Amino acid sequence: MKRKIYSPDKPVAAWSSLDRLSDGVIPSLTMVLRTYGCYWSRNHQGCTMCGFIRDSAPVPPSPDDLVAQFRDAMTRRPDGEFMVKIFTSGSFLDAGEMPLEARSAILGELDENPDVKKVLLETRPEFVTQETIAACKSVIRKKLEIAVGVETSSDDIRLDCINKGFLFRNFIHASEIAHQHGSSVKAYLLLKPPFLSEGAAIRDTIKSVRDVSAYAETISINLCNVQKGTLVEKLWRRGDYRPPWLWSAIEVLRRAKTEDPDAIITSDPVGAGSRHGPHNCGRCDRDAADAIRRFSLSQDTGELEVECDCISLWQKVVELEDVSYGAPLSR
Ligand code: SF4
Ligand SMILES: [Zn+2]
Repeated sequence: MKRKIYSPDKPVAAWSSLDRLSDGVIPSLTMVLRTYGCYWSRNHQGCTMCGFIRDSAPVPPSPDDLVAQFRDAMTRRPDGEFMVKIFTSGSFLDAGEMPLEARSAILGELDENPDVKKVLLETRPEFVTQETIAACKSVIRKKLEIAVGVETSSDDIRLDCINKGFLFRNFIHASEIAHQHGSSVKAYLLLKPPFLSEGAAIRDTIKSVRDVSAYAETISINLCNVQKGTLVEKLWRRGDYRPPWLWSAIEVLRRAKTEDPDAIITSDPVGAGSRHGPHNCGRCDRDAADAIRRFSLSQDTGELEVECDCISLWQKVVELEDVSYGAPLSR
């Protein structure tokens, strides 16, 4: 797969926005550091929807390069107090991807910054060990959040539709370790992996919110989009995959929040409105995506009231795709 041209001391991306935590909304800085890439993608074909390996470096960046990327990203910080979210398109806690020297230097600089209130680190669960979390906590005294892309509570869907390669009990184990060290946990769920009907995808994510809420303080629902070089892209090109309807995301958020009003459930509809992203009919996509963003900050289901004629088509799709064995009935 072709990789993009890059400079080793610049991050893939960094931007500031707002994040919803259990105690309110906080400005945040999100950074995606360019590492050698996710080992699961390099050695095990990776997950069916994940094209992040295109962002990875062809040779492992040096610890100095990784720290330089971090410092560059920090220049895009918001004013005042903020939260930092670090992604590597893999696992920040994998020492093969983020050398210990770079990890300590980055966490040390975050610890010394008085404006940083909380730090989120994304990782696969196998890297959440007693030793690793204790080592991180010895460098950083700020609130730490461990984020895991568990995607679904169904092992069958996670293994067979996503090729994620770990079990729900591995996520629970990681959550327990993080909590033992006083860290909070964020679970990322995936709405509509390939091979599921629209209705099955909705039901799976609602059930998954219920199942992960015992182990995670915040839950973020990623709406599957078509990334280059993935199995999902191959299916999409031949008409065997359609990204989720935004109505489905709205339905999941409304029902999950109503079931568990205390859970913090968010979603950032990346790529909404395009054919390779979550979409409705084209006319209401912007309104639906804005509603999802507003709900994610306010947690008020009243924000999810959107109207468009295409809702009846979506309802038919949800009803009929279960008898088309998941084959998409709309584009
Ligand atoms: S989704 Fe995460 S675990 Fe899966 S290949 Fe991509 S970076 Fe790796
Ligand atoms: Zn519409």
